[in-house]
Amino acid sequence: MRNSYNILYVSPEVAPFAKTGGLADVAGALPKALKDLGHDIRIMMPKYGCISERKYVLREVIRLREIPVRLGQREYVVSAKSAFLPDSKVQVYFIDYPPYFDRDSLYVNPSTGKDWSDNPERFALFCRAVLEVLKVLHWQPDVIHCNDWQTALIPAYLKTRLREDAFFSRVSTLLTIHNLAYQGVFEPSVLEVIDLPQELFLPGGPVEFFGKVNFLKAGIVYADAISTVSEKYAEEIQTEEFGAGLNGVLRRRASDIHGILNGVDYNVWNPETDEFIPHKYSASDLSGKQRNKEALLTQVGLPYNPEVPVIGMISRLAEQKGFDILAEAMERIMAMNVQMVLLGTGDPKYHKMFEKFAKKYPSKLSVNLRFDEPLAHLIEAGSDMFLMPSRYEPCGLNQIYSLRYGTIPIVRFTGGLADTIQDYDPETGRGNGFVFRDYNAEALVEAIQRALNVYQDRTTWTKLVKNAMRQDFSWSVSAKKYVALYKKIITSK
Ligand code: ADP
Repeated sequence: MRNSYNILYVSPEVAPFAKTGGLADVAGALPKALKDLGHDIRIMMPKYGCISERKYVLREVIRLREIPVRLGQREYVVSAKSAFLPDSKVQVYFIDYPPYFDRDSLYVNPSTGKDWSDNPERFALFCRAVLEVLKVLHWQPDVIHCNDWQTALIPAYLKTRLREDAFFSRVSTLLTIHNLAYQGVFEPSVLEVIDLPQELFLPGGPVEFFGKVNFLKAGIVYADAISTVSEKYAEEIQTEEFGAGLNGVLRRRASDIHGILNGVDYNVWNPETDEFIPHKYSASDLSGKQRNKEALLTQVGLPYNPEVPVIGMISRLAEQKGFDILAEAMERIMAMNVQMVLLGTGDPKYHKMFEKFAKKYPSKLSVNLRFDEPLAHLIEAGSDMFLMPSRYEPCGLNQIYSLRYGTIPIVRFTGGLADTIQDYDPETGRGNGFVFRDYNAEALVEAIQRALNVYQDRTTWTKLVKNAMRQDFSWSVSAKKYVALYKKIITSK
């Protein structure tokens, strides 16, 4: 039995090269953990315009300068460059086709606020090009690990157009769903440009979804196994409530669905070494945390008072994240003895809403509507509590980062939040955060109130903080689970 595999990890975003959310953090960390376990793992991602070739030392690969890729009637010529994932020996290939990828924004056209209209062509080409690059490299992975809809056509091409291709006959696929709400759903006219057989689009067929073409569905149907990023979310997505229209398709594959919790890259998210925070600290010496709080409040323009707890929030401003109940709770929260620092971008409706509240509560609320990695780290370090009132949350990373920074999570009981945060029980002292169940403003306010009450008792709070900081969610545990899953799909081939 072999215990080292060739694994190709394909992701539309990888930190630190290009990031819009948690997937990038996972894609920048899990491969390193797999490499440490002795596997030959390589990454492929698109070469977006925002990726600095100089900063990350992208190199030309002579063989990969001109690779013809045929999609239906069109022939493209793509190229690929390579670099190492920083601080590792994990090789990353950047697939380049400038007319499609030489853009700073990954999925959304910044001038319209809407998705790029050619997203189906862009990511179909990416999927097809990934497979061609493997052939040119003569590198046969045992598993292609796909992530989200942007990569979900890979299993579909392998099982249809490339079914007879001997090069791929021993290649298995795993599709990880990081967020079921994003499926890549397009008009039927794209079938021709993405080059999948027409019969896949018959009613109820592998890519047909209420009269449209659904990339993620194709991946779910054709991948050898499917995983998602927490055990709880793996159950939830098979229900009507969280299934986003695909619960039936998922249930048909129930025995092939696995939940593996995301880990944390503690080289990046660690208050003892974090280069973005001015004062390093650890569970045995928390003094730096207080100084980071002062630095944070000064930077975002709020008055500093060590006695007043600060609630941090870092989030895409999307429906999913609970902003409707937060809006309803906001006046009540602002009436408490608390300050709040929010960092996020997304739906213009929430931009407006938070700007309004920030104007009304200038000494209590700081609203930062942009993507800002250094500020994200300072918020983790300088806040006392971290709020995630999500309607649903596949895994959630910030609550796990928060634990390591001694910033106590206040979360709703859903998905990965439910799998990582246990409600604090003052009787037993057990628990690492504050959890509420009902999705409404009352339950949210009540959880914040409970956190503030415990905060008043500084000895208890400090104990809670230290316990949280000592928890370990490093990738090594989850990476082993992925290897067991790879093994399962490889051996059943
Ligand atoms: P999701 O993937 O749904 O956005 P996660 O909690 O899994 O949520 O991951 C979010 C990641 O994106 C975290 O690393 C978080 O710090 C980061 N992030 C989100 N919004 C911003 C922002 N405005 N500025 C900096 N980092 C952000």
